Amino acid sequence: MDVAANLNHIQQNIEDACRKAGRNREEITLIGVTKYVTIERTMEALEAGVRNLGENRLQGFSEKYEAIGDKAKWHFIGSLQSRKVKDMINKIDMLHSLDRISLAKEINKRAEKPIPCFVQINTSGEASKQGMEPKEALSFIVELAKYDKIKVVGLMTMAPFVEEETVIRETFSRLRQLRDEVKEKRYSHAPCDYLSMGMSNDYQLAIEEGATHIRIGSKLVGQK
Ligand SMILES: *Cc1c(COP(=O)(O)O)cnc(C)c1O
Repeated sequence: MDVAANLNHIQQNIEDACRKAGRNREEITLIGVTKYVTIERTMEALEAGVRNLGENRLQGFSEKYEAIGDKAKWHFIGSLQSRKVKDMINKIDMLHSLDRISLAKEINKRAEKPIPCFVQINTSGEASKQGMEPKEALSFIVELAKYDKIKVVGLMTMAPFVEEETVIRETFSRLRQLRDEVKEKRYSHAPCDYLSMGMSNDYQLAIEEGATHIRIGSKLVGQK
């Protein structure tokens, strides 16, 4: 399928989910995850109108950034080793995977301006998932006030790989509750307005539960 046709279908689903949840389409940013695909396929997504792109590895990001540059907004969505921060931090628009203080320190050292970051939370309790425990999130965010290049714009999570819709929904609604808790504190370094959640198989549910940034790879650009 060409990307334009996939995009059309996804846009329809986004609108349906918004209607169902009584939300505005403008509240939702679609991030096209291009980690599986070539530069050519990524260009096709750009031409179809996808303006936000997501990559989870430094190499994939660097190749595509070199070809596309500031024609797209760049989201880094994968776990990030501290030693790689200097090579990418001033090229991205948002980091979705802030999960430890040592990473915040390195970003603070290398970034030329404040970086909008999502704190990644492991809401499913699966050991294989990245991110911190929900109960650690608030004190972690408080500690981030020390680092003036870190701006906590929201929380990010990945739903567990299960079939049960209720389990997936609960994961998303738990993240929303945690976001509300942080937002209520009105920390100046952590407005925490956004929720990065929802992928190819669960983005409609994520939108119904409050997602503002959805990250879609395989259903948009395919796997290869
Ligand atoms: C790969 C990936 C996605 C996209 O996954 P799909 O299921 O292909 O849509 C979203 N978020 C993260 C963090 C990813 O690594």
